[in-house]
Amino acid sequence: MTARSSVPRIALRACLAALAVRAAAGWAAEPGEPASLAAAIRSGGARPDLAVRVQGFRLGTGLGAVFLDDGVLVPAEPVAGRPVEWVFVGEGRAFMEPPDDVERGQMELFTGAPVLDEPFDRAVFAIALDAAADALVGLPRAGDDPRVGGAAALLEQWRSSPERRLLDEDARLLRDAVGDPLGRGFFCGYFNGDKLGRFLWVVDPLAEEQVIVGRFVAAQLTDPERRRAERHLESEQRRGKLIGLVVDDLGVWDTWVSTSLRGTDGTPTPGTAGVEPRHYAIDATLDGKQLELAAVARVELDVLVDGLRAVTFDVGSELVPLAVRDGGGRPLVFAHTVDELTVLLAEPAAGGSSLTLEVEYRGTPFERVASGAYLQRDPLGWYPHAGLVDRATYEVVLRWPRKLQLLGSGRVVAEGVDQEKRSWQRRTLEVRSLGFSFEVGDFDTASGRIGDIEVTVGIDRLGQGAARGLAAEVLRSVEGPLAYYQTIFGPYPLGELVVVSSPRAFSQGLLGFVTLSTAGIVDWDKWASLLGYEDRRLLIAHELAHQWWGNQVGWRSYRDQWISEAMANYAALLYERNRLVGQGEPRVGLGPTSGWQAELARLTRDGRPVESLGPVTMGPRLNSSLASDAYHAIVYKKGAVVLDMLARLYGEDAFLGILRELVRTADGRVVSTDDFLNLLERLGGVELDWFRRQYVLGTGLPEIVYDYRIEGVGEGWAVDGEARQQSTYVDRYRVERLADGALDVSRRSEPRLDVADSVLVVPVQIGIADAAADGDAAAGGGPIRSLLTGRLLLRGELSPFRLEVEQRPLILWLDRGGEVFGRFFAAARWPRRAAIARGLELARSGALAEAEAVWLTAFDEPVVTADEQWLGAEFDVEASGRVLDISLHTALARLYLDQGRLGEAAERIGLARERMQRDDRWLFEHEVLALEARLAIRSGRPEQALRELRQAVEREPEVASTEVAALLAVASHLAGKPGDWTAACRDARSRGVDLGPLDCPAE
Ligand SMILES: [Zn+2]
Repeated sequence: MTARSSVPRIALRACLAALAVRAAAGWAAEPGEPASLAAAIRSGGARPDLAVRVQGFRLGTGLGAVFLDDGVLVPAEPVAGRPVEWVFVGEGRAFMEPPDDVERGQMELFTGAPVLDEPFDRAVFAIALDAAADALVGLPRAGDDPRVGGAAALLEQWRSSPERRLLDEDARLLRDAVGDPLGRGFFCGYFNGDKLGRFLWVVDPLAEEQVIVGRFVAAQLTDPERRRAERHLESEQRRGKLIGLVVDDLGVWDTWVSTSLRGTDGTPTPGTAGVEPRHYAIDATLDGKQLELAAVARVELDVLVDGLRAVTFDVGSELVPLAVRDGGGRPLVFAHTVDELTVLLAEPAAGGSSLTLEVEYRGTPFERVASGAYLQRDPLGWYPHAGLVDRATYEVVLRWPRKLQLLGSGRVVAEGVDQEKRSWQRRTLEVRSLGFSFEVGDFDTASGRIGDIEVTVGIDRLGQGAARGLAAEVLRSVEGPLAYYQTIFGPYPLGELVVVSSPRAFSQGLLGFVTLSTAGIVDWDKWASLLGYEDRRLLIAHELAHQWWGNQVGWRSYRDQWISEAMANYAALLYERNRLVGQGEPRVGLGPTSGWQAELARLTRDGRPVESLGPVTMGPRLNSSLASDAYHAIVYKKGAVVLDMLARLYGEDAFLGILRELVRTADGRVVSTDDFLNLLERLGGVELDWFRRQYVLGTGLPEIVYDYRIEGVGEGWAVDGEARQQSTYVDRYRVERLADGALDVSRRSEPRLDVADSVLVVPVQIGIADAAADGDAAAGGGPIRSLLTGRLLLRGELSPFRLEVEQRPLILWLDRGGEVFGRFFAAARWPRRAAIARGLELARSGALAEAEAVWLTAFDEPVVTADEQWLGAEFDVEASGRVLDISLHTALARLYLDQGRLGEAAERIGLARERMQRDDRWLFEHEVLALEARLAIRSGRPEQALRELRQAVEREPEVASTEVAALLAVASHLAGKPGDWTAACRDARSRGVDLGPLDCPAE
C-alpha cells in the first residue's frame, strides 16, 4: 500500500519529482500586501551594494553550525525590510553531528563519514530568523572585495534550481513574511562542498523532522533521453497535465540525515503542520472524455499552533486551486507553488480552535490508458490534503458521466441522476481514515456477504479484456482472508467492502476500499512463479490485511510505516500457512517472503548488499540514488521475516492475542514502532531491547554457527550440540607510536551488539535413518528416510542443546528453510568457514599463535561437505572457496603486520591480490589497499603509501574506508605534506579515528 503520510517533505518531493508530475506554479492575482511580498521573494535580485564582510561568524542551526570563516555575504533584495536570501563566497565549513546511531549510519552511507564536517567555498542561504538576519546586516560593508562579483550569478543559479522549486522555498518565506509562527526559523543552506559537491541543509518548521541534510541527484539522461523527456512533457502539458514541470526536476533525493530539532534538555521537539483535518466535505464533478474534475473541498481543521497565520495544503500533482474561502464564505489570499497551496488567514487563529477552509479547484486526475480504461495516477491526489497525520471522516458528493460506473470509499447514502443527466452519489465515511478514493469504469461486478459485511468486487471490462468470471474468482479470494483475519485480528470496522481492479502499477488498501493492480490479479496459472508474480490469492490477502494494518492501526511517521507493510505481509504469510497450505491446498505459488535472502543480499551498483542500506525504520528513504528498490526488500520482506520471528518467540497464539489487543486499543489511531514494541513487552513479558537494536534499528544478517554429535542413549538416540551466535563487531582505529618509534594504525573490534539477551526460536530438522537400516551403513551417511521437525530455543551467545529421538538421527539442520533473519551453518559441514570464525574469536581474545595455526590449516579444509543437502544448483563452490581464501590471506597479513613480521605480511598480501577477481573487489579492495599502505609505512616508504592511497581513492571513492582515511593522515604526516595532512586529519577525525600521537591541528 502506498499512501500519503508524514514522509519527510524532501522524500515526498522526491516521489513527485520522480513521477514527473507537478502543478502550475504561480501566485494568485489577489491584490494586497501578500502578493507583492510573494513577488519580492520570487524575483528580487542580488544587491552587491549591500554586501558585508564576514569573518569568524558562527551560524548555529538545526543540530549543528555553519562557520563562515572568511568571506563576503551578498543579500538579495530585502523582503518586508529584511534580506532573507544571502550568497556567500569565501571559506566556510558546515558541521553537524547526527543525533543517533541510525542517522550516523545514513550519513556514513552517503558521505563516507558519520559526521558532516565539510569545507565549502560558495553557498546560498535563506534565513527566516530575524535575529540572525539582523546580525548579518550589522556586519561591516564588503566595499570593493572582488568576491562580491560572482554573487548575482550564484543567486540566479539557485533561483532556477530544481532544489529550490521542489522545496517550495517561496511558500516558506511567504509564511515568514506574514509573521506566521511556523514560518519563523526556516533555514535553507545550499552548499558547494570541497569533497561532497552540492548539498542542502534545510530546517523546515512545518515538517515533523524539521532538519534534513541531503542532495538532489538529477536523473542521468543521455541527450536523446532528454529530448524524449522534453517532447513527452510538452505533449502532456498541452493536455493540461504535468504543468510547470521541467526536465531538470527529474531525479531522486538522497537524505543523509533527517531528524527533529532538540529541546535544551536534548529531547526531540517535532515540527507540526499547524493544523490537522477532522472532516472533509467534498463536492466533485467529473465531465468530458478526460473526466475533468471541478470540485469544492470544505475542510474542517483543528488548529494546533497559537497565532497561526497560514495553512498549507498538499494539492498533489495536477490540481489547480481557483479560489479559497473561509468558513463564512469570505475570500482568502492564497499562493500556489509547485505542489503546495498556502492559504493566508484573515486573522491569526488560536491554538485549540477549529477552522473551516473551502478550496475550489479543478484538475485532470484521470488519464485513459491504451485499453480504454481510466487510470487515476494517484488515488488520493484528487483533493487537497492538510496535516501530517491527516486521518479524518468524509462526506463526498460525486457526479460522473452516466454511461460509466463509479465504485469507491464510504457508504452510499443517496443517489440519482442530475439535470445534466449525470449520475450522482452522496457517500459518507464515518470512521477516521487516511483517505477517500474511487475508480470509474465499466465494471463487471460480483457481490457476496461475509457475516454482516457486504462485499462488492468490480473488474473493469475496459481494462481486463475478456476475463469473464474474474470478478467471481476475485470475490472468492477476498472472502477467505476477510473471514480469517476477523478470527485473528478482530472485527472489520465497516458494513461494506469494495474491491476494484485498476490499471495502476500498484495495489492499495484504503479503509473499506481496495484497489488491485490489473497485472497482479490476472490468473497466470503455472506461469506466475516463473514470471516472479506472487500468488494472487496472497497479494489479495496482503491488501486486505491493510484494513487492520495501516487503517485500524495507522503509522505515526514514515519510520513506523514498516509495521503496516510488514504486518500485511505477515498476515498473508499466516493465511498461506494456516488456510491455504494448512487446509490441503495443493498448489500455492510465490509467497510474501519468498526469496528474501536473495533480494536482501543483492548488490547495489557500488557493491553493497541491499540489506546494508538501512534498517526497516528508514521507510521510503531506503530508495535513493544507491538503490531504487531497497524499500520493498527491506520493509516488506525483512519486515515480515522479523515479525514471524517474534511470533515464534511468543508462540503464534499469544502473539496474535497481542496483535488483537493492539488493533482494539489503536482504534483507528496511529502508533509508533516504540508503541508497538512496548505493548509486546508489556503483554508478552519478554524484554525486547536486543530485538529492537538488532532487527528493527540495526542492519546486518547475524551469523550462527552450530556443531553437534550423535550418540546412542539407552534404547534411543540423542543429538547433543551447541549454537554460537556471532556478535557483529564495529572496528575502531587508532594511530599508535610503536616501541621502535614508527607510526602505525591499529584496529580494535568492539562488539556492536550485545547478544547476551537475545532469544531466537529456530526451526530444526533431523534426518532419520531407515529404522531397519544396518547401523554402520547409516552412520556412514546412508539414506535419510524421514525428517523430524521441531523448534529450538537459542539464548544468548552460546546455546547448548540436546534433542532426544527414538530413531537413529543422521543429520541436523537449523533453520533449513530460511525463516529466521540470520545465516546458520553447521561447522562440520562448512569446515573452512568455521575455521575462519574460530580463528577470529582466538585473535580477538589475544591468542594470536593459536589463531595463526587455525588459519594456516584452514586452506586445506573443504568448503562444504557432501552431506550438506540444501544447496541449490546456483551455489558456486569455487567462488565461495575463493572468497574464503582471500579472507584467510588478509586475516593472516593483518596478524603478521600486528606482530611486525613484514616479510610474511607482504607474501600474504600478494597472495590475496593474486586470488582476487573482479566480483570480489567490492568486498576486499579497501582491505587489501589498507594492508598495502600499512606495509609501506612500516617499511619506511610513506611517500609510496600516500601516492597509492590517493590514486586509489581518486579512482574509486568507495575504497576510502575509515582505515584508509587514518592511513592517509599518517602517510601525509610522514611524507611531510602539511596541506594534505590537515585535510586528512580532519577527515579521519570526523570518522572517529583516535589520532593520538599524530598531533593534528586543533579544530
Ligand atoms: Zn501493502
